Amino acid sequence: MTKPPLAKPAAKPPRNPDNQAVIASFVGRVALFSAAVDCIYFLFFLALGSSFLAWMNVVSVAMYLSAYSLVQRRRVHFAVMLIWLEAFPHAAIGTIMLGWESGFHYLLLMFIPSVAMTASRRRLQVFLIALLAFLVTLDVVSRMWGPIAPIPQSSLIALKWLNISLFAVMFSALASYYRQKITAAERRLKVLATVDALTGLNNRSHFEAEAEQHIARFQRSGISSAVVIADVDFFKKINDTYGHEAGDLVLVAVSRLLKRELREVDSLARWGGEEFVFLMHETGLPQAIAVTERIRDAVEASSVSYHATEIRCTMSFGITALLPHDTLGDAIARADRALYRSKSQGRNRVSTD
Ligand code: GH3
Ligand code: MG
Ligand code: MG
Repeated sequence: MTKPPLAKPAAKPPRNPDNQAVIASFVGRVALFSAAVDCIYFLFFLALGSSFLAWMNVVSVAMYLSAYSLVQRRRVHFAVMLIWLEAFPHAAIGTIMLGWESGFHYLLLMFIPSVAMTASRRRLQVFLIALLAFLVTLDVVSRMWGPIAPIPQSSLIALKWLNISLFAVMFSALASYYRQKITAAERRLKVLATVDALTGLNNRSHFEAEAEQHIARFQRSGISSAVVIADVDFFKKINDTYGHEAGDLVLVAVSRLLKRELREVDSLARWGGEEFVFLMHETGLPQAIAVTERIRDAVEASSVSYHATEIRCTMSFGITALLPHDTLGDAIARADRALYRSKSQGRNRVSTD
């Protein structure tokens, strides 16, 4: 007697990647990258003999490493605050000391996509106004006071392009991070829209879409296929006797059995409740009946273990062959009629229409 493996809980859709761990890992990487960048600034200003700016970058590195350590301790919110607290004063001091030409303000534009992706529209508007006001003020102030610690023109140009390059690299990293998040969310939505959460089989609407395509192909090729509706007998009694959880386990076990017995090319889905549907591609009626009888036998011979009890069930089936000019609805209606006959003739049987 075959015993299907004890059903595991539902085939769950993939975990939502848009979670704290992903965000934390991204913020952690931003903090480490920024710390590395500030090390480059440190060496750059040390080489230029601007010791104040060089040591300012040591403070920045310490702040970014602290942000990284906060991320490790799951204090992501504080880490983000620390990053803001470093970036804005850093850009302001750099611009006032070296002039607008140094290009430190470019780095602040990085915050626009982050805010746009995480905050409400209202907050984004407020942020944009505040950022523009900050940049205008910085521009005016840095021009009024002139560069406090000027550096040679060639170094200034090199610094500007270093800042523009950093902006470009970080902007690309942010864009591809958000693209990954969107792709993962789309994948998840697609699974949720096409897969039945309990059994992991395709759901009814996915089956319908697949079957419509198949019917269109069949109308060109003329090679017939079979549509089968299968229904667990007296399923309500299983629920009533052993509980809903046991009923779910039986549905998962039946789904596995159907999947195992059918070919990869066949379309199989949970039609609803304790009903399943399958379309045996390019299979004549006699062969479809033989396969369905084999499935019926396998269900009858199997059992599901539930708290030391072996639960058994049988299934009834209704089969029809696809006919030229059939819609899916026509074929399903005939298969349903055949299923009704199986039920009324005593269940645990296969009928055709
Ligand atoms: P028949 O042999 O005539 O098909 O009788 P039946 O008891 O199988 O059919 P009926 O339509 O009376 O009962 C089907 C039951 O299936 C009722 C419903 O509560 C149950 N059911 C539907 N979906 C689920 C599910 O996802 N999990 C569980 N455990 N039960 C379900
Ligand atoms: Mg039933
Ligand atoms: Mg039913």
